[in-house]
Amino acid sequence: MLTRLYQITLLLLFAIPAYSQNLNFNTFEQQQQVNSSCLNIGKKLSSVTFNECLKLNLSSSVHQSAKNNSLLIKEYPPLLNKREPQAKILMLGGIHGDEYSSVTIMFKWMHILDKYHSGLFHWKVAPLVNPDGLLQKKSQRINANGVDLNRNFPNNGKPDASLEYWKKRAYSDPRRYPGPMPTSEPETQWIVELIKQFKPDAIVAVHAPYGIVDYDGPTKPPSRLGPLYLKLLGTYPGSLGNYAGLQQEIPVVTIELPYAGIMPSDKEVGRIWVDMIRWLKKNIPQKQKTQELPQRHAEHNVIIK
Ligand SMILES: [Zn+2]
Repeated sequence: MLTRLYQITLLLLFAIPAYSQNLNFNTFEQQQQVNSSCLNIGKKLSSVTFNECLKLNLSSSVHQSAKNNSLLIKEYPPLLNKREPQAKILMLGGIHGDEYSSVTIMFKWMHILDKYHSGLFHWKVAPLVNPDGLLQKKSQRINANGVDLNRNFPNNGKPDASLEYWKKRAYSDPRRYPGPMPTSEPETQWIVELIKQFKPDAIVAVHAPYGIVDYDGPTKPPSRLGPLYLKLLGTYPGSLGNYAGLQQEIPVVTIELPYAGIMPSDKEVGRIWVDMIRWLKKNIPQKQKTQELPQRHAEHNVIIK
């Protein structure tokens, strides 16, 4: 009887606090999906192993990709008994499925957050927004329905803007097809829902391979992050920068790593991270709007983001 009581006490002492702090809780079925995703990611990316993916304790969203792959997410919530977080930050990798480094760097940064999450920011990290694009034999930019997710976001009440732009200005390039209408894709619906529910104060989206920092939104952009310097690439109908940055006025930092298939060195990965945290600390949430916004490049620039 005493032993039983002792066991129950132990359970109450450890199990409940552990559960209550674990926002990345999975049902059995979701955990199976996470396991399967980690297995596939481990096979695909040379710098992410199955075990390290599993150890991150990712969650599987209730949304799924067009081909029913898991949409993975990890939350680093405010810490109990600590100060209120300064801001909520959403980080997105792998919106384009053939930009491997943009997914790998999410795993590197989640390892940093696993060790050092201080509660300064409340994070949500979606390391692989387009699993169908990445996890097929030959990885591709677009999703399983052939849609460029970074052209599939809402267009401020102009549902045809992306398609028109694609036909006239992007020469109907199939790699940049915006889909039949905004948010036609489950992956885009998921991100739009995340933004609505989480209400991030800033979004960091990682791409490759242009080796620069791009920015859309109301506050002062970072002039550099590690070895990457600010270069505004222009904005396109249906892009995340247009939707979140311009329409919703949420600062969107787009990090373009220099290579899609080669990771920056660990030192550079760390430097980009440190500079990003410094910029977030200083600028998010913004106290007042910056008067002078940097000049954007004209829309007829080559579409590269
Ligand atoms: Zn991209």
